[in-house]
Amino acid sequence: MKKVLPLSVILLIALIVPAVTATTVNVRKIPDGKSSTVPAFEKNGMTYVSMPAFAELAGFKHSQSVFSNKSVFSNERGSITLIQDNLFYRVDTVTNLIPYPPIRKEAALYLPAPYLVKVFGAKHPGALGWNAHTSTITVNSLKYNVLSVSGEVKQNGTLISIVSADSLSYECTYYHPNVAINFDGGKLDPKAVKRGLRAGVVDSAFTLQYGESAQVSFILNQAVEPPYIEYNAKTRTLMISLKPRIEQKKPKPAASQVPLDASLIRTVVLDPGHGGKDPGAVGPTGVKEKDVVLGIGLELRTMLEKAGFKVFMTRDKDVFIPLGDRTKFANEKKADLFVSIHADAVGGDSKKRSAARGYKVYFLSQAKNEEDKMVAMRENAVIELEDKDKRTNYDALQDVLISIAGAEYLRESQELGIFIEQSLMTNVKQIPRLQLGVGQANFWVLNGAYMPSVLIEVGFISNTEEEKLLSDKRTQFQQAAALSEAIVKFKQQFEGGQ
Ligand SMILES: [Zn+2]
Repeated sequence: MKKVLPLSVILLIALIVPAVTATTVNVRKIPDGKSSTVPAFEKNGMTYVSMPAFAELAGFKHSQSVFSNKSVFSNERGSITLIQDNLFYRVDTVTNLIPYPPIRKEAALYLPAPYLVKVFGAKHPGALGWNAHTSTITVNSLKYNVLSVSGEVKQNGTLISIVSADSLSYECTYYHPNVAINFDGGKLDPKAVKRGLRAGVVDSAFTLQYGESAQVSFILNQAVEPPYIEYNAKTRTLMISLKPRIEQKKPKPAASQVPLDASLIRTVVLDPGHGGKDPGAVGPTGVKEKDVVLGIGLELRTMLEKAGFKVFMTRDKDVFIPLGDRTKFANEKKADLFVSIHADAVGGDSKKRSAARGYKVYFLSQAKNEEDKMVAMRENAVIELEDKDKRTNYDALQDVLISIAGAEYLRESQELGIFIEQSLMTNVKQIPRLQLGVGQANFWVLNGAYMPSVLIEVGFISNTEEEKLLSDKRTQFQQAAALSEAIVKFKQQFEGGQ
């Protein structure tokens, strides 16, 4: 028996619902150019797309279990499983994480477009791309969508051109000497960049395919103005203008303006990640992140003490320390530097695990690309292990802390990060750089540190070869030596009047 709702109730519902705006997005097929639309809605500034509608256009079969709110999408390559309101999803049997869970609207599950492209990209034979400006998802049956990178010298600077098969969402970051452009859903043609591309201010160019996103980065030989970017839809070319910066001599602050203790770097807090009930990432043969990073931390303490620093450690044995307590500790000790040490990991099959390797250095800031965000999420997942009553509303807190600590020490944190990155590159040759540049991500452990702060992922413990290296005391010693050298160099530069 059906009950009919009175009209007034229906009107009321109609008035309440529009907090979520119904819309559609375009799905464009490449290379044939055919376009269709699928249902979508806007929520919290994100475009949620109907997964079943998209899946059908992209050639996936869909089955849904009403009772468990689970949706399975499959094709000849395998299956993808998502659950309503759940951050975890599965590709075949491997569990992965997305920053936003699927939401149900009527019978279908909806996912924000950038993550939909990422999730389905794992099983789609070609490249999927999302462009927020045109609300278009491209379903490309070609294997690559980032096709070529070139540079030319113009009268007033250097022009970089990146040609793609379709228009992709991109994000450009510039921290001298690195300019990096990240494409969500980008699939790099391995031949896109001729090694050693060199033009004007660009000394060299590099590419990195990382899961469902692609990065093209450049090393510059001189500082430039903030890059100016323009997209030509007709030629599908992203053009990046790099104009050399005209140096303006800044007056040095008078010595009296700088508080005495702020101009010296004496106290360092070392923070080996995880510990106790939280092992951190665990390698294929069982090596634990918490043990590796403690080994490096203890070596580093000895070295820094020899170099005249006062060193405190958030832990010098195998104990669990809540994330919030780590930065609190650093503030209490009036540390001048905060150095957090971690090891990275990826899930997936053995091919994926062996592909991911290398170290990366992060400093406190808002994450600028998806991969940095994922690393931050994984490292922050330990919050789940902490006592419920100790947890605060950390999303809201983060923003406040970033605006206080971040703005003040961003530059120093980044400089320290670059020193560490370079020192690891020259001193620990057996573990490569994961990618160019120093990443920005808002790690919880760094939030609330009122001092220059960095987090180092010393390598991938999920990679068999690096797991072995990381557990080796000799590598740990080398890594500690590299960090110590960078910290000494940073101190010299910082104190030598910038
Ligand atoms: Zn960690």
